[in-house]
Amino acid sequence: MQPIKINLHNGKASKRFHVMSKPIGAACNIDCTYCYYLSKQDLLEYKKGCSPEMPFDQLESYIKQYIEQQNTPEIIFTWQGGEPTMLGLDYFKEVVRLQAKYAPKGVLISNDLQTNGTLLTDAWCYFLSKHNFLVGLSIDGPEMYHNAYRKNRAGRGTFKQVMAGITLLHKHKVNFATLTCINKLTSQNPLEIYRFLRDEVRSPQIQFIPIAEPETFRETAPHHWQKEQLPILGSKQAQPGELGSVVTSWSVSSEGWGTFLCTVFDEWVKQDLGRVNVQYFEACVETWMGRTNPLCTLGSLCGKGLAMEPNGDVFACDHYVYPEYKIGNIHEKPLDQMAFSAKQQAFGFAKSRTLTKQCQNCDYKFACFGECPKNRFVRSYDGEVGHNYLCQGWHMFFKHIDTYMCQIVSAMGHQVRKTV
Ligand code: SF4
Ligand code: SF4
Repeated sequence: MQPIKINLHNGKASKRFHVMSKPIGAACNIDCTYCYYLSKQDLLEYKKGCSPEMPFDQLESYIKQYIEQQNTPEIIFTWQGGEPTMLGLDYFKEVVRLQAKYAPKGVLISNDLQTNGTLLTDAWCYFLSKHNFLVGLSIDGPEMYHNAYRKNRAGRGTFKQVMAGITLLHKHKVNFATLTCINKLTSQNPLEIYRFLRDEVRSPQIQFIPIAEPETFRETAPHHWQKEQLPILGSKQAQPGELGSVVTSWSVSSEGWGTFLCTVFDEWVKQDLGRVNVQYFEACVETWMGRTNPLCTLGSLCGKGLAMEPNGDVFACDHYVYPEYKIGNIHEKPLDQMAFSAKQQAFGFAKSRTLTKQCQNCDYKFACFGECPKNRFVRSYDGEVGHNYLCQGWHMFFKHIDTYMCQIVSAMGHQVRKTV
């Protein structure tokens, strides 16, 4: 029998977990059509039109817990919203002050900040650069694509403000990645979107996010859908814009997602391999090498990242901030107990344990694992409930890149491992 290998840090078993903290909850200065988070204000019963801010005493208690309950060489804080920059720069100066107060010797404290970029200033970017924040910035492509859905509260597009923010990020050499939502519109213009991100934004890392939203996503938690109403993969009711469709009209279609990825991949693999970082493509190289996919959506497990609201409520995942998936509150239970609780473990293992037969028999199970469970709101071809809406797109993409991936991995001197 192989001995069980335990990773150690400072002579003790290492222990790490991750929390995506939302110190301003769902509050945001703009109003994107497909924001999955704004509606949480109603769902979590916050006072109309506002979310509570995490007060400084709670912030301190959170930072202290988060650091003290982990035993690992690097502790990563993630700040999200809503729009966290609405809290103001002084709030984040306090964050880094508190982190320095509690950081043990020899442990690296890192920060990720997700922003729409519209409130960035020289002072903000100086601070982000100085403290080595990794910024995730949302931009959906050239002006007409970005402004189609990312509007301010007066209904006007936010493209110009976001581009001004990007200029400042470059000026201050802030480490950043771009997040681009692939919706019905952007999915139809893959090269225009990709070339813009590559050549004009000069994005250090390009991340794509498929918009796949059930019509009922604002009020109905994943897996609490009306089972009898779930359509078969690829049927009319599983197409955005069709009468009786289960997805919002701005969602990307399953095939549209696949076509988008394949088209961008073809340009990337011919011209930009090793030069431009496209997160999905880099992650696939890892997978074809037989390593664990760094992205939870394409890995075998969920549940490694909790989401926390400003009132201390903790949820199983950022995409599962619904009362049904609340696992506790930091004022009542230590964070690590929630992170390693039986409920959270069951959530994590369900990703692989609930795969449909179609997924279990799929040639690309090793690269996909049925993708994110929040998107499993259709039936498989043989009628099984809980199949992924984006399946056709993912399958098309994995099949398309398979030969290239084998060549890339071999050229890197590694063995190709397409195993689960
Ligand atoms: S539910 Fe989706 S986003 Fe959340 S951990 Fe699982 S795969 Fe990742
Ligand atoms: S490509 Fe489709 S069938 Fe294959 S694992 Fe992914 S969701 Fe399942």
